Amino acid sequence: MNTYPVVTDEYTESWQRPAHRYFSQNLSTVNRHYQALTPKERIAAFYQELQGRTTESNVLLTSSFGTTAVLLLHLFYDLDIRQKIHFLDTTFHFEETITYKNQLTHLFDLHVSELRPEAWKNKYIRQNEVWKTDPDFCCSVNKVEPLQSVKEKADFWISGLMNWQNEHRKQLDIFEEKDGIIKFYPLLDVTEADALQYIEENKLPVHPLKPLGYESIGCKQCTLRGKGRSGRWSNSIKTECGLHR
Ligand code: SF4
Repeated sequence: MNTYPVVTDEYTESWQRPAHRYFSQNLSTVNRHYQALTPKERIAAFYQELQGRTTESNVLLTSSFGTTAVLLLHLFYDLDIRQKIHFLDTTFHFEETITYKNQLTHLFDLHVSELRPEAWKNKYIRQNEVWKTDPDFCCSVNKVEPLQSVKEKADFWISGLMNWQNEHRKQLDIFEEKDGIIKFYPLLDVTEADALQYIEENKLPVHPLKPLGYESIGCKQCTLRGKGRSGRWSNSIKTECGLHR
């Protein structure tokens, strides 16, 4: 594994920002360094660099338990890194997703924290089928808001986004700092073929809906069969739930 860059005085951004507090160089230098590493090496390097400074609350790790989620979860398992996994239970998931989550939780001995929307708001959404008329509001209530209190305590947010998944994700870098949090995307340059190969080679469990033609899976109301993320919000221009914007 490459050694990590040492402290320099080239950092010019505000001292309050988490990137300054945690990294010895500016994020573009850190990104250049991490681009040369494999996803597994990136996760290992991150935890090595932050040794003793990562906690259950300052690192937010999210998983949708969708079709490619197992890759990131397996890398953490393989590296023997214990980190709480946050799962947004919108109450609109497929039964198969919940079954798959339970399967992976058991297999990798995961510590999963389930975040739910406020009951009265969720009830309003359900009764008025708000996902049909205002999916952004629906995602805001059921996904964005429940994560907010966890996000406020976190300095890092690790997720398994890959840049082939949509146009927005193509523009991302391995580390990005936004709204006081450093997003870390260790799988960003993993191709769809690489992801499938990894899952196959490691004989990892496949989401039960994948063989039925669902390549990206979210809430039931907003997911159809389809290639890539084409089955998500297929009747609207929406491509992200708002979490990763
Ligand atoms: S994915 Fe659809 S149902 Fe789920 S929270 Fe977003 S708009 Fe609502």
